[in-house]
Amino acid sequence: MKNIFKNAIEIANGICKSKLGNGDIAVDCTMGNGNDTAFLCSLVGEKGKVYAFDIQEEAVISTGKRLQELKLLERAEIILDGHENIDKYVKEDVQLVIFNLGYLPKGNHDITTKKETTIEAVQKCLGLLKPNGIILLIVYSGHENGKMEKRALDSFTLTLNQKEYNAAKICFTNQINNPPELICIEKVFKA
Ligand code: SAH
Repeated sequence: MKNIFKNAIEIANGICKSKLGNGDIAVDCTMGNGNDTAFLCSLVGEKGKVYAFDIQEEAVISTGKRLQELKLLERAEIILDGHENIDKYVKEDVQLVIFNLGYLPKGNHDITTKKETTIEAVQKCLGLLKPNGIILLIVYSGHENGKMEKRALDSFTLTLNQKEYNAAKICFTNQINNPPELICIEKVFKA
């Protein structure tokens, strides 16, 4: 069996696989180069749908091309706007939302997610989650903005009522250079 605890991204991918099935609705709040968007499109199947957000036109163009090559474009709605405006575009409940925060490694490092808009988006996503649905946030604290974003998210998740949400964080205790952390907020399922 493969390692489960390699890094935050691998763990998040495993959670996506266990949470998503054919016909589900998912959101990629930070499209970037489209890796997660393509992965989510493959998991939701032909009947599913993935909304993807980014504020950079390059991200929208490269993700569109990538999905077209993979024949997955029909399952996606690619949106050139900030995730804090998600309520303008997503009018249905969703099973899973993923945020891969920070800046694009090969892009402009000045264009990074910011604590205010990230928290606003997470709050709006909470209202869109199906019972048993989940928000995953991969949080990078190696840069100054990321440190502030991490602190803001840590304080925010503390306030969530445990009767409504299971909020958990996975951080690697023995890795050097500020490895990304994974925050999971799962909506409690009441049968
Ligand atoms: N740190 C990750 C990549 C993060 S990419 C890694 O190392 O792999 C983050 C993406 O979020 C960027 O493409 C950026 O343009 C986008 N972004 C920044 N602010 C945003 C916002 N408010 N809404 C949607 N996307 C945003």
